[in-house]
Amino acid sequence: MSSLEFINELYNTHTTSLKGLEEIIKDESNCDYLFEAADKTRRKYSKQEVHLKALIEISNICTKTCFYCGLRQANKVVNRYKIEPDDIINYAKEAAQVGYKTIVLQSGESNIFSDDDMCKILRGIKKFGVQITLSLGEKSFEQYKAYKEAGANRYLLRIETTDEKLYKRFHPGMSLDNRIRCLQDLKTLGYETGSGLLVGLPDTNPEILAKDLMFLKKFDFDMVGIGPFIPADNTPLSNEKGGSVHMAIKLIAITRLLLPNINIPATTAIETIDPNEGRKKALKSGANVIMPSITNGKYQDLYRLYPKKFYIKSDVSETYTKFDNLLFSIGDKVSLENGDSMRFNQRLK
Ligand code: SAH
Ligand code: SF4
Repeated sequence: MSSLEFINELYNTHTTSLKGLEEIIKDESNCDYLFEAADKTRRKYSKQEVHLKALIEISNICTKTCFYCGLRQANKVVNRYKIEPDDIINYAKEAAQVGYKTIVLQSGESNIFSDDDMCKILRGIKKFGVQITLSLGEKSFEQYKAYKEAGANRYLLRIETTDEKLYKRFHPGMSLDNRIRCLQDLKTLGYETGSGLLVGLPDTNPEILAKDLMFLKKFDFDMVGIGPFIPADNTPLSNEKGGSVHMAIKLIAITRLLLPNINIPATTAIETIDPNEGRKKALKSGANVIMPSITNGKYQDLYRLYPKKFYIKSDVSETYTKFDNLLFSIGDKVSLENGDSMRFNQRLK
């Protein structure tokens, strides 16, 4: 079968073989066709609406040493911060007042917030009637359970790559098994569970990427975030080439066809490499979520997973309006629903 036929198979049945995925990834001649199929599928399943979710980067302290990340513990150049719990709750309140239906709390992986503090933050935010997504890294079942009981209902933890050798190489002291254990725990606990990929890490190839996509399909995630790897200063991968926006968007489009009713963000890393068109292209190729950072500017500059990380130097309300306008310009609008993926709602029925 040709890659065109594999795309058609994916579009019609939402599945294909590993070989089919690999062919689509490799072949550059049918990309526009693929993007259009993904756009049609997204519009069919999520109307003309895009979820805006407010991201607060609550701490850049991290005990891990992921090879690609500017926040890795071994990077001594970073000024580390932690936002005080009351301030986090106040930022969330402002976001809720402006109209955000979901607050996303992200940080490096550490226990700088005790579990009691985290639960206090979650209970405080929950009072504003919003949904809460966490992206705090690997935790124990008991911790995930406590956060859930305190009000968190979604969790993002990217698998990054499913290739055992590459995973080990880029994540010293960590394991693919534990990553998968975390994702399984989150699902068991009833979280709306999200994962995703870092695209363009050294020594990946279409065969590995096809397996990564199959993993996302088999795990049946509710959300999938895919972004290009951007080389970060003071990391072991600082001199590498990095991933391309094109490949990230291609994988987003394939993911939309594999999992038609999930939530897929147009990621910040895409916008960072291509500030003018990146997010628009992703939104026209299957993405249906934007997560603008609303973290106060003094912290934004310090939350550098990678250099020149895109953010808008404006207040929470201006940021909302900017994205509202961007969506209008491509024939979409901000969703006023709570931001659950359709996949998740159907699973509950
Ligand atoms: N510590 C948590 C959450 C923060 S990192 C965690 O690791 O899950 C969030 C995401 O940032 C990671 O999943 C990774 O895919 C992405 N990231 C880290 N460094 C990056 C880089 N150099 N370029 C692009 N994305 C990066
Ligand atoms: Fe820490 Fe997450 Fe960066 Fe890894 S990717 S070093 S866990 S912040």
